[in-house]
Amino acid sequence: MAVTARESSSPLDAQQWREDFPILARVLPNGAKLIYFDNAATTQRPRQVIEAIVDTYQRHYANVLRGVHTLAEETDELYASAREKVRTLINAPSAEQVIFTYGATSAINLVARSWGESMLRRGDEILLTEMEHHSNLVPWQQLAARCGAVIRWIPITDDGLLELDALERLLSQRTKLVAVTAVSNVLGTINPLEHIIRRAHAAGAVVLVDGAQAVPHMPIDVQALDCDFLAFSGHKMLGPTGIGVLYGKRELLESMPPFLGGGGMIRLVEMDRFTAADLPHRFEAGTPPIVEAIALAAAVDYLNQVGLAAIHAYELMLTRQAHQCLQSVPTLRIFGPKPEQKGGIVSFALANLHAHDVAQLLDRAGIAVRAGHHCTMPLHKRLGVPATTRASFYFYNTPEEVEQLAPALERAMHTLRRK
Ligand code: PLP
Repeated sequence: MAVTARESSSPLDAQQWREDFPILARVLPNGAKLIYFDNAATTQRPRQVIEAIVDTYQRHYANVLRGVHTLAEETDELYASAREKVRTLINAPSAEQVIFTYGATSAINLVARSWGESMLRRGDEILLTEMEHHSNLVPWQQLAARCGAVIRWIPITDDGLLELDALERLLSQRTKLVAVTAVSNVLGTINPLEHIIRRAHAAGAVVLVDGAQAVPHMPIDVQALDCDFLAFSGHKMLGPTGIGVLYGKRELLESMPPFLGGGGMIRLVEMDRFTAADLPHRFEAGTPPIVEAIALAAAVDYLNQVGLAAIHAYELMLTRQAHQCLQSVPTLRIFGPKPEQKGGIVSFALANLHAHDVAQLLDRAGIAVRAGHHCTMPLHKRLGVPATTRASFYFYNTPEEVEQLAPALERAMHTLRRK
C-alpha cells in the first residue's frame, strides 16, 4: 500500500502527544493560546528530537566518515543508524539508496542537475502537474532552459484532482520524466501515484515523487509505489531544518554523475581527475548535516511510535470537521477535493478579503495559518485567486482547536468589513 487512507486500529490521542511539544503550550504576547495550523510550512518538534540535538552536541559530536577517534566512531554509528531508520521508514531496498540532502528542494535539484543534465536532450519532454510546488517546478524549468527540453503540464479539474485523461494524452516516447507531488501543499489532493507511475513507466519515463507533504503524514513505501526518485524534508516531519532525503533506484543513482564536488564524495583524487565514491557518499559532498540526520532519526522513531496510518486517519477526521465547520462561514470557498481525497490541508478564500488580512486577524486569536501563494503561483493562477489562506493540521492538533477556526474567521470578517 502506498498513499491511500488506512484505518488505524487504535484511535490517536492528540492530548497525550501534545505533552511532548513544549511550544504547543505557548501563550502569545496578546494572551491568546497558540493554535498551530501551519504544519504544511513546517512542523513543531517534540522534546525527544530537541534532546537528540542537544545530546549529540553535548556527548557524541565529531565529523563523520573521517576520524578514527572514539567520538568520530560514535558519530559515524549514529549517522549510519539514522540512514537505516529512514530506509526503514520508506522501505527502501538498501540504505545506500538514501541520500541525505539539505531538504526536499535540494534533493530535487540534485536529480535535475545530475540525472537531468546527463539524460535529457533537446526535444525531450518533462511532464509536471499544475499543482506542483515551485521546488518541483523551477529546477525543471532551469534544466529545460539548459538542455532544450520541453515542459508539459497535467491540468487539474475544478475539484483540484489531476486530469488523468490528459496524462494519457501527454505521455509519449518523448516523455523522459514525470515529476509529481504525492500530496498538494495547497489543495491537499492525494494523487494516484501508483497509476501515474505505472502509466509513466509504460511510456518509458522516469518518475520523481515530491513527498514533502506525504512522508510526514502517511505510510509511504517506495518499493510498493515503484517510484524512481522520492524527495522529502526533515523539518516537515518533526525533524530539524537543513536536512532532507533523496531516495533513488540503485541503477539510476549509480548511473548519475556526482552533483556537488568536494570532500567525502571521492574514492581517489589525482591532479587531473577524480573517481567518485560509491553510494550514498558520491552525492554527499562536504560535511553533511550530521546532527540534523541524527535528530531526523529521532523524529522517525517518534513518528513510528505515533503510527503513520493512525496519523493519516486522524488528520482525515480533523479535515472533515474543518470542512463541515467552514461551510457556515459566508462567502468562504475551500479549494481542493473532498476530505476523503486529501491530506490535512484546507486552503480557502473569502470574497473581497485579502488572505494576508485574514491570516493576521486569525493570529490575533492565536491561530497560526499561512497566507499567500504557498510557492504555487501557476496553481493559484489556475484557481483564479492571487492568494489563499491555508490551515494545515498534524496529529497534535485537536478537534477543540479546529472548532475555533470558523468563529475566529467570522470575527475577522466582521472586523475587516467594518474598516
Ligand atoms: N514540495 C512541497 C509539496 C512542499 O510543500 C515544499 C515546502 O513547502 C517543498 C517541496 C520544499 O520543501 P523545502 O523547502 O523543505 O525544501
